[in-house]
Amino acid sequence: EAFEVLGLSPAVLAAIRETGYEKPTQIQAEAIPVVMEGRDVVGASQTGTGKTAAFALPTLSRMGAPGKFRCLVLEPTRELAAQVVEQFEKYGKHTGLRVLLVHGGVGYEKQRKGLQQGVDVVVATPGRLLDFMQDGTANLENLEVLILDEVDRMLDMGFLPDVRRIVERTPKSRQTLFFSATMPPQIKTLAEFALKDPTSIEI
Ligand code: AMP
Repeated sequence: EAFEVLGLSPAVLAAIRETGYEKPTQIQAEAIPVVMEGRDVVGASQTGTGKTAAFALPTLSRMGAPGKFRCLVLEPTRELAAQVVEQFEKYGKHTGLRVLLVHGGVGYEKQRKGLQQGVDVVVATPGRLLDFMQDGTANLENLEVLILDEVDRMLDMGFLPDVRRIVERTPKSRQTLFFSATMPPQIKTLAEFALKDPTSIEI
């Protein structure tokens, strides 16, 4: 199978050609058409399977032109968040969409400026994003896509209450993509709360 048959936008396909990827991985072939339809996804996939592109490629394809803060990706650590930002920038380089990294452990001002200048995609760790929601810098009312990545690691780090608080403040009309290598009861409960009629993808 080829990337060309999955419904991705021309701008995203051009970026994929430049990466040199020859064909979609299994999770990409399964997830991309479902995400392109606007459906929710619950995926049990590890890193190293091409999971990031599985959610980034169709999300960038659906977003079209730059506009408002419409896509939020939550990650458990700053390192993972930085890697996801890199991939969004690589796959989105012909879209004009703006991607911002938001994480704790550093000063607020640079990230605040980034949010105020306008962004389309924010990749964040939960605590710092909540700070920006509480002081009014981050406004999630236009959010169209919420991606909860590595949810089992967010549980291990004690972030699930923050994640739930963030989910509660996003529009009900959003599309939600949910990835966790394991599904213990607390994660099932969050998935049931966050997802609408999801398609399950297991790799
Ligand atoms: P991930 O599972 O998202 O951490 O991705 C693992 C690595 O696979 C990343 O470095 C990607 O650049 C790479 N990758 C993602 N999709 C493909 C693909 N279809 N073909 C080759 N490499 C890929």
